[in-house]
Amino acid sequence: MLTFRASKEIRAYLKSRSRSIGLVPTMGALHSGHLSLVKKACKENDYVVISIYVNPTQFNHKTDLESYPSNPEGDMILLDSFSDQIIFYTPDHKDLYPGKIKSKSYNFGSITTHMEGQFRPDHFNGVATVIEALFKNINPKNAYFGEKDFQQLQMIKNLNAQKKLNVTIIGCPTVREKDGLAMSSRNSLLNKEQRKAAPIIYATLQTLNEKHLKCDVSQMSIFFKKQVEQHSLKVEYFFVASINDLIPVSKLEFNKKYRFFVAVFAGKTRLIDTIELNRK
Ligand code: AMP
Repeated sequence: MLTFRASKEIRAYLKSRSRSIGLVPTMGALHSGHLSLVKKACKENDYVVISIYVNPTQFNHKTDLESYPSNPEGDMILLDSFSDQIIFYTPDHKDLYPGKIKSKSYNFGSITTHMEGQFRPDHFNGVATVIEALFKNINPKNAYFGEKDFQQLQMIKNLNAQKKLNVTIIGCPTVREKDGLAMSSRNSLLNKEQRKAAPIIYATLQTLNEKHLKCDVSQMSIFFKKQVEQHSLKVEYFFVASINDLIPVSKLEFNKKYRFFVAVFAGKTRLIDTIELNRK
């Protein structure tokens, strides 16, 4: 498998081949959720660049960054057997941050004001800085992102339009474990008890989808917290937000589309999930 660490080299390699390039940006510790993006990218492009970069500026706490799972050898083995279209890109800090490792400042309006934007100040500036640099370095035709991070996906669509980066942004459905837990690199940090408890997050969102017409958003929030916190988990937030502007609502309007957005702590490990609110 072709592997590059420097943007200069990968640019030169890709430039000499006028074929379609798909990009899948990740922070590594790859799992089947990541692989679903890679699979789709392989079907739709001649080459697929998978970047692995744990971006310091999108973390709010040093301890969170330091404990973030990493498995570079495992990632290589997984991708090596996957497809010969794959190009592995593990940039250095200086490749994505020409000067100081500091995020740029963006304005995404309401898209990044709430949920993750509210609870992780500067997180999206960090993500956007690296995605903009990756798009400029790789110049992909298509880039693939998971709906698991729905707010991030919407922010990237906005970034792409604002900066005229000319990439087609493709959202991919959330891949779950058999018991419903959304796959995440952070799941490997859960102890046995936390791992056993964590599926209650998705299960409760599904229950809310079955009964939401009977209650308002604040009742949904109380229900979610009660169910989830019975299992020694701690809810950081529960929101219902319109999918267009990502502004949380307290009442549902008839012909608008909404999603649930939740963040839950299992000990020190923070898990997020989101599903569309079913109006039927
Ligand atoms: P990460 O390595 O966590 O930054 O994720 C890299 C990409 O994979 C992002 O676009 C995520 O939204 C996506 N992703 C992570 N987990 C999943 C999942 N369970 N299902 C689908 N996509 C995912």
